[in-house]
Amino acid sequence: MTEEVVEAKIKELERLLENKASEDEIFRLIASEKSPEISFDAVIEYFQRKVSWDERIILPLSKHLFIVCKEGKAIVKAACGYEFGDFRINWKVFSKVRVRRTQEEIEELYPPFMHSDPEWTEIREFLCPGCGKLLAVEAVPPGYPPVFEFLPDIVTFYEKWLGREFPCEKVDVKDLTAEYIKENIKL
Ligand SMILES: [Zn+2]
Repeated sequence: MTEEVVEAKIKELERLLENKASEDEIFRLIASEKSPEISFDAVIEYFQRKVSWDERIILPLSKHLFIVCKEGKAIVKAACGYEFGDFRINWKVFSKVRVRRTQEEIEELYPPFMHSDPEWTEIREFLCPGCGKLLAVEAVPPGYPPVFEFLPDIVTFYEKWLGREFPCEKVDVKDLTAEYIKENIKL
């Protein structure tokens, strides 16, 4: 019975996601299900069928990025197969970045007088190193650290919310980005 419900949800998700439904519609579909586990399983299964690799998806971060379990470690992996690293390190650190910091560069996107002052704000475009897909855009003051959009406590989510065992090696969920930069990126 549960399996049939999951299967029906996957079909519905497919229809919504492939017709470029708004996030609102997708949220409504997920929230309409009385049992959140069924929606969760359907979302995971939907993406798991779309990707060509085998690592188990623990949580989708977007339509292109997923936290997966790879050899016992929870890492961020892209749909195209590119692997970013430990999910506790902001994936933006591993991506390709295009920074727009001059008037001319910003006006490739915005009409004159309709954009921020490049002295105050730069526009950063984060691209997937595996396929070039645009993954995120942020407008921040120059020098501002990359914004960590979502660091979910996936261990608590699995254990306390879903009431399941965490399907990978358990770790303390804390932001490791600064540590990683300190150890690996030499200026
Ligand atoms: Zn990619």
